[in-house]
Amino acid sequence: MRVLVINCGSSSIKYQLLDMKDERPLAKGLLERIGIAGSKLTHKKDDMKLTFERDIADHTEGLSWIISILTSKEDGVIKDVSEIQAVGHRVVHGGELFASSVLIDDRVIKEIEANSFLAPLHNPPNIEGILAAKKILPETPQVGVFDTAFHQSMEEKAYLYAIPRKYYKQYKVRRYGFHGTSHRYVAARTAQIMGKPLKDLKIITVHIGNGASIAAVKFGRSIDTSMGFTPLEGLVMGTRSGDLDPAIVLFLQEQESLSIREVNNLLNKESGMLGLTEGKFSDMRDIEERAIQGDNLCKVAHDVYEYRIAKYIGAYVAAMNGVDAITFTAGVGENSPHLRENVVNKYLGYLGITLDNEKNSKRGQEVFISTPESRTAVLVVPTNEELVIARDTREIVEKGIRELSMF
Ligand code: AMP
Repeated sequence: MRVLVINCGSSSIKYQLLDMKDERPLAKGLLERIGIAGSKLTHKKDDMKLTFERDIADHTEGLSWIISILTSKEDGVIKDVSEIQAVGHRVVHGGELFASSVLIDDRVIKEIEANSFLAPLHNPPNIEGILAAKKILPETPQVGVFDTAFHQSMEEKAYLYAIPRKYYKQYKVRRYGFHGTSHRYVAARTAQIMGKPLKDLKIITVHIGNGASIAAVKFGRSIDTSMGFTPLEGLVMGTRSGDLDPAIVLFLQEQESLSIREVNNLLNKESGMLGLTEGKFSDMRDIEERAIQGDNLCKVAHDVYEYRIAKYIGAYVAAMNGVDAITFTAGVGENSPHLRENVVNKYLGYLGITLDNEKNSKRGQEVFISTPESRTAVLVVPTNEELVIARDTREIVEKGIRELSMF
């Protein structure tokens, strides 16, 4: 089966076509600037990278263009559109309605729409992508895979905030958590690499990219995660603050006469590593390079970043009453030996971890970075959300089921 995986943003479509016989990506790419002059498509197949430019008005036109390239004689990888046997969509917010991946029908589209108030920037473009695919491939089954679904296994004690309960009832204000597809993949892969059943392991998955979150995965179920009602909570991120005293928001609003939009922008776009480095850097590569050279601003920003990760690891060891493995993933987690070394060597000695420095120097590879004698295993597992989306899509379509049973 060939599955087209689609991830739609407000002005972008990220795609990957996978051949599920060997789970190999045949082609992948990114269309940017939809609805803005100078739309650009970057298309990769094998080792070739091609770029195209053309004005694209909306997601339907964009997806048509992508499919015409996938099927084109010169740059394509399939002969005919009928070779796409299923479409898997990344959907950001499934709210409390979706605890697993589902076959998309009109009712599901309505339910995703109903969750849009929880993710007003993300769910509407996800729906645009679904409607575009329905229009272009009306006979092809489509599946929705939700970022929040994996964390629906959290208990009330982990997902409720201590604010008047009526707000949970009225507005569904609670912890949802995000990056669920990544945490799920990485935890399962960690168990496979360790050669142990997932249901026997306590794993902490540390997804640190531009966005960052951490999850406590106990016996295969997410029992807690650092992102909350929105992706703003938790770890320090590229431009997001992560945890802070909520009273700071009130204080700054009053002092600086900030509007809701301005505060939102401040915490999501101007904070995190960018804020800590006085607006200079949000990319971890820039910060690490300067921190190592002795730039104090970057060094302190890095200290704050790694300290927050270490505190969450400690909290999740407590939440699970132990830990068997800690796994790093995403841009920073996969590629920064410096960060991993600092977190482990400065803060995790009590877990009986010794780092294998040679193995820790690797980037972007599946590898144990702890020594075999370590009481707790530490690994790096490159995440692969597209593969999870494609696998769920194949399973639902092949089995002819409406919904995947996740737990
Ligand atoms: P992601 O959102 O998963 O694509 O991750 C993006 C983040 O990964 C950016 O902050 C990058 O700076 C960071 N990153 C990528 N490569 C490296 C590297 N070699 N060392 C440190 N950080 C990296």
